[in-house]
Amino acid sequence: MKLFVTTAYLLFCGLTISGCSDSSSSKKDVSQGMFTKGELGPAKNFTGKAWNTSLVANDSTYSTVMGNVYFEPGARSNWHTHPAGQILIITDGVGYHQIKGQPKQVLHKGDVVKCPPNVLHWHGASPDTGMQQMYIIPNTEKGIVQWMQPVTDEEYDSNE
Ligand code: MN
Repeated sequence: MKLFVTTAYLLFCGLTISGCSDSSSSKKDVSQGMFTKGELGPAKNFTGKAWNTSLVANDSTYSTVMGNVYFEPGARSNWHTHPAGQILIITDGVGYHQIKGQPKQVLHKGDVVKCPPNVLHWHGASPDTGMQQMYIIPNTEKGIVQWMQPVTDEEYDSNE
Protein backbone atom coordinates (compact mmCIF):
# COMPACT_ATOMS: atom_id res chain seq x y z
CA MET A 1 0.00 0.00 0.00
CA LYS A 2 2.79 2.39 0.94
CA LEU A 3 4.53 1.64 -2.37
CA PHE A 4 1.31 2.32 -4.25
CA VAL A 5 0.79 5.69 -2.57
CA THR A 6 4.38 6.69 -3.26
CA THR A 7 4.10 5.63 -6.90
CA ALA A 8 0.79 7.46 -7.29
CA TYR A 9 2.30 10.59 -5.73
CA LEU A 10 5.31 10.48 -8.06
CA LEU A 11 3.06 9.94 -11.09
CA PHE A 12 0.82 12.84 -10.08
CA CYS A 13 3.74 15.18 -9.52
CA GLY A 14 5.32 14.11 -12.79
CA LEU A 15 2.13 14.83 -14.67
CA THR A 16 1.74 18.16 -12.92
CA ILE A 17 5.25 19.25 -13.82
CA SER A 18 5.01 18.09 -17.45
CA GLY A 19 1.55 19.67 -17.70
CA CYS A 20 2.79 23.15 -16.82
CA SER A 21 2.35 25.49 -19.76
CA ASP A 22 5.15 27.72 -20.92
CA SER A 23 4.44 31.03 -19.20
CA SER A 24 6.59 32.89 -21.75
CA SER A 25 4.16 31.92 -24.55
CA SER A 26 1.12 34.04 -25.38
CA LYS A 27 -0.69 30.97 -26.71
CA LYS A 28 -3.08 29.23 -24.33
CA ASP A 29 -2.42 25.54 -23.70
CA VAL A 30 -5.62 23.49 -23.62
CA SER A 31 -3.91 20.19 -24.38
CA GLN A 32 -4.71 18.60 -21.01
CA GLY A 33 -8.04 16.99 -21.83
CA MET A 34 -9.80 14.03 -20.23
CA PHE A 35 -8.43 11.66 -22.88
CA THR A 36 -4.88 10.84 -23.93
CA LYS A 37 -3.45 13.10 -26.63
CA GLY A 38 -3.13 10.18 -29.07
CA GLU A 39 -1.44 10.08 -32.44
CA LEU A 40 -0.36 12.99 -34.64
CA GLY A 41 -2.66 13.35 -37.64
CA PRO A 42 -0.90 12.93 -41.02
CA ALA A 43 0.41 16.09 -42.72
CA LYS A 44 -1.45 15.16 -45.92
CA ASN A 45 -4.77 15.75 -44.07
CA PHE A 46 -3.87 18.44 -41.51
CA THR A 47 -2.06 21.79 -41.35
CA GLY A 48 -0.15 22.11 -38.05
CA LYS A 49 -0.41 19.54 -35.29
CA ALA A 50 -3.69 17.73 -34.62
CA TRP A 51 -3.67 14.79 -32.19
CA ASN A 52 -6.28 12.04 -32.52
CA THR A 53 -7.43 9.42 -30.02
CA SER A 54 -10.00 6.79 -31.00
CA LEU A 55 -12.71 6.33 -28.35
CA VAL A 56 -15.12 4.00 -30.17
CA ALA A 57 -13.83 1.84 -33.01
CA ASN A 58 -16.12 1.06 -35.91
CA ASP A 59 -18.13 -2.19 -35.73
CA SER A 60 -21.23 -3.70 -37.34
CA THR A 61 -23.39 -3.35 -34.20
CA TYR A 62 -23.01 0.42 -33.69
CA SER A 63 -21.75 1.55 -37.12
CA THR A 64 -20.36 4.61 -35.33
CA VAL A 65 -16.90 6.07 -34.84
CA MET A 66 -16.07 8.34 -31.92
CA GLY A 67 -12.82 10.03 -31.03
CA ASN A 68 -11.12 13.08 -29.61
CA VAL A 69 -8.89 15.54 -31.44
CA TYR A 70 -6.66 18.17 -29.90
CA PHE A 71 -5.75 20.90 -32.39
CA GLU A 72 -2.70 22.94 -31.37
CA PRO A 73 -3.07 26.72 -31.94
CA GLY A 74 -3.30 27.42 -35.70
CA ALA A 75 -3.81 23.73 -36.58
CA ARG A 76 -6.74 22.67 -38.76
CA SER A 77 -8.04 19.86 -40.91
CA ASN A 78 -8.02 19.92 -44.70
CA TRP A 79 -11.31 20.56 -46.43
CA HIS A 80 -13.29 17.31 -46.30
CA THR A 81 -16.73 15.69 -46.39
CA HIS A 82 -18.40 12.96 -44.33
CA PRO A 83 -20.77 10.74 -46.38
CA ALA A 84 -23.05 10.29 -43.34
CA GLY A 85 -22.29 13.58 -41.55
CA GLN A 86 -20.49 14.26 -38.27
CA ILE A 87 -21.25 15.71 -34.83
CA LEU A 88 -18.60 17.75 -32.99
CA ILE A 89 -18.63 18.44 -29.23
CA ILE A 90 -16.16 21.12 -28.17
CA THR A 91 -14.68 20.32 -24.75
CA ASP A 92 -12.06 23.06 -24.39
CA GLY A 93 -10.37 25.98 -26.09
CA VAL A 94 -11.41 28.09 -29.06
CA GLY A 95 -11.68 27.03 -32.67
CA TYR A 96 -13.51 27.27 -35.97
CA HIS A 97 -15.86 25.29 -38.17
CA GLN A 98 -16.53 26.45 -41.70
CA ILE A 99 -18.84 25.10 -44.39
CA LYS A 100 -17.68 26.03 -47.93
CA GLY A 101 -19.32 29.29 -49.00
CA GLN A 102 -20.38 30.27 -45.47
CA PRO A 103 -18.66 32.42 -42.80
CA LYS A 104 -16.41 30.75 -40.23
CA GLN A 105 -18.27 29.71 -37.08
CA VAL A 106 -16.33 30.38 -33.84
CA LEU A 107 -16.46 27.43 -31.44
CA HIS A 108 -16.09 27.42 -27.65
CA LYS A 109 -16.23 24.81 -24.91
CA GLY A 110 -19.73 23.33 -24.76
CA ASP A 111 -20.66 24.02 -28.39
CA VAL A 112 -22.19 21.17 -30.39
CA VAL A 113 -21.96 21.29 -34.19
CA LYS A 114 -23.61 19.18 -36.87
CA CYS A 115 -21.64 18.85 -40.11
CA PRO A 116 -24.28 17.68 -42.64
CA PRO A 117 -23.64 14.68 -44.93
CA ASN A 118 -21.50 15.36 -48.04
CA VAL A 119 -21.02 19.05 -47.19
CA LEU A 120 -17.49 20.40 -47.74
CA HIS A 121 -16.11 21.81 -44.48
CA TRP A 122 -13.10 22.07 -42.18
CA HIS A 123 -12.54 22.48 -38.45
CA GLY A 124 -9.58 23.47 -36.30
CA ALA A 125 -8.11 25.70 -33.61
CA SER A 126 -7.95 29.49 -33.41
CA PRO A 127 -4.50 31.05 -33.99
CA ASP A 128 -3.75 31.66 -30.29
CA THR A 129 -5.77 29.00 -28.44
CA GLY A 130 -5.97 25.31 -29.21
CA MET A 131 -9.22 23.36 -29.32
CA GLN A 132 -10.32 20.02 -27.92
CA GLN A 133 -13.16 18.38 -29.83
CA MET A 134 -14.91 15.05 -29.59
CA TYR A 135 -16.35 13.75 -32.85
CA ILE A 136 -19.10 11.26 -33.62
CA ILE A 137 -19.51 9.81 -37.11
CA PRO A 138 -22.72 7.76 -37.43
CA ASN A 139 -23.83 5.29 -40.11
CA THR A 140 -20.29 4.40 -41.09
CA GLU A 141 -21.56 1.89 -43.66
CA LYS A 142 -21.95 5.00 -45.88
CA GLY A 143 -18.29 5.95 -45.35
CA ILE A 144 -16.30 7.99 -42.82
CA VAL A 145 -14.38 10.82 -44.50
CA GLN A 146 -13.29 12.04 -47.95
CA TRP A 147 -10.19 14.23 -47.68
CA MET A 148 -9.69 17.20 -50.00
CA GLN A 149 -7.25 20.12 -50.33
CA PRO A 150 -5.59 22.00 -47.41
CA VAL A 151 -7.21 25.12 -45.92
CA THR A 152 -4.91 27.92 -47.13
CA ASP A 153 -3.65 30.66 -44.80
CA GLU A 154 -5.85 33.11 -46.76
CA GLU A 155 -8.93 30.96 -46.14
CA TYR A 156 -7.97 30.42 -42.48
CA ASP A 157 -7.41 34.15 -41.83
CA SER A 158 -10.50 35.30 -43.75
CA ASN A 159 -13.71 36.25 -41.98
CA GLU A 160 -15.76 35.52 -45.09
MN1 MN B 1 -15.42 16.98 -40.27
